[in-house]
Amino acid sequence: MPLRAPILIPLLALLGAAPLAAQRTRAPSAAAVRRAVETITEAEIRGRVAIMSDDSMRGRATPSPELDETAEYLASEFRRLGLRPGGDSGSYIQRYAIQRSQADSGSFVVMMGRGATARWVVGRDASVGGLLPESEGVITAPAVLVVGTPPDTARPFGSVSVRGAVVLQALPVVPRFRGGGVPRLVAQGAEAGALGWVFLVNAPEAQFGAMARSALRPQSTVVGPQDASRGRIPVLVVRDSSAGEVLRAAGEELAALRDTATPGVRALSGVTVTIGARRRVTAELTAPNVVGILEGGDPELRGEAVVFSAHMDHSGVGQPVNGDSIYNGADDDASGTAGVVELAEAFASLQPRPRRSLVFLAVSGEERGLWGSSFYAEHPAVPLGQTVADLNMDMIGRNWRDTISVIGKEHSTLGATANRVSREHPELNMRLVDDLWPDQDFYNRSDHVHFARRGVPILFFFNGTHPDYHRPSDSVEKIDAEKAARIVRMVFYVGLEVANAAQRPQWDPESRRRVVQAGN
Ligand SMILES: [Zn+2]
Repeated sequence: MPLRAPILIPLLALLGAAPLAAQRTRAPSAAAVRRAVETITEAEIRGRVAIMSDDSMRGRATPSPELDETAEYLASEFRRLGLRPGGDSGSYIQRYAIQRSQADSGSFVVMMGRGATARWVVGRDASVGGLLPESEGVITAPAVLVVGTPPDTARPFGSVSVRGAVVLQALPVVPRFRGGGVPRLVAQGAEAGALGWVFLVNAPEAQFGAMARSALRPQSTVVGPQDASRGRIPVLVVRDSSAGEVLRAAGEELAALRDTATPGVRALSGVTVTIGARRRVTAELTAPNVVGILEGGDPELRGEAVVFSAHMDHSGVGQPVNGDSIYNGADDDASGTAGVVELAEAFASLQPRPRRSLVFLAVSGEERGLWGSSFYAEHPAVPLGQTVADLNMDMIGRNWRDTISVIGKEHSTLGATANRVSREHPELNMRLVDDLWPDQDFYNRSDHVHFARRGVPILFFFNGTHPDYHRPSDSVEKIDAEKAARIVRMVFYVGLEVANAAQRPQWDPESRRRVVQAGN
């Protein structure tokens, strides 16, 4: 139908060009923004927190069927809101691998020297630090003794070689093994060629017995590149009192070793240590993250993204307190997760779309050592180089009605943006304050840190801990959903600002040196 062609072409050109130009320049009207922000409500936040923190969710442990149920709930919300799936093979769920394993009950340590012998068995009078190797290898090696904690952290072993040796470290207390990891000194020893590590600790028998028994409990660990690079040597923990005779034969006095005021490192001549220790893998499991994407409206900026994150997991079922064993994790962090869904709903309803894309991310494994965010940072839906900010919410439903701590403000221009947005919205009656607890290192204790270490500027919205923190009593009836809604509205305004700004957020140069490079 050739006659129609001359009319059609200009029409098509008009139809094609006009909306594009409009999207690039037009900001949403104040009324459109107000309508979007009003979808963030107290009732919906309370409702979502109630679903996720219900006793039937059994504390959303990583991994657990109830965590998967939580992930499915969030995925169905993302689907309903029309977000694009950002997970595996066209779904909203991104899975990472977890191993369930158990220390072998036959694992042991033997110390021998000049006719004296000491022997410990895991589960009875020896415990385990970090993860044992998977394969059995019985090691017999000369001993190097580390007394206390060497002050020179760069060259902790000084001129003493630990290559091919088992290190015995005498400590007055049981060392802390955070998130399945080992203390830095052990990692340094493994790097320097040590074959094993035995902590000789001065701990009361009762405390020690419980710890030894718990060493045989099955445990879940994430399987990832970080994990493999850690250099796995067997690490055992034994009570020092049983070693007294062998030490004395080698010219060391237990009483003197317990005095850690005088740290030192020396080869323990004539003493060998034999370690036979391994763990058995009993199951290969996975855990979910949930990822939904709202495509940006600006063709030039939609390749960049702002991430809104929170962790959907909590610590599951545990030690009962006042007859309740379900750790509901309503504030920690069903509150922040509800916030992520509310933000997705608000942004999905806004026309025109924000210029940059938005990623709505609910991670798991936070309580186990920031597993899900670590995995997401390795496998992001939008490359981290194009991820301009992470706005993380972890615990936003308790404490002061009019104040929220925004951790990380000083590290990038996001801080000034947030402060300005807060001044522009006095109706939210929400004061943004800096990190109130710098000594507690919260900057390194939630999911945003995996973004920050890889160069993505972050803000962390956090109301601080309370007496129900990490207890079964962190439950929905204590949540101040009205306050949480005002915080989420604040995050909406900050996110909108960042998504539409011509310039992406910039690090403070000194912070970049400290945070970004330190983590790599
Ligand atoms: Zn948390």
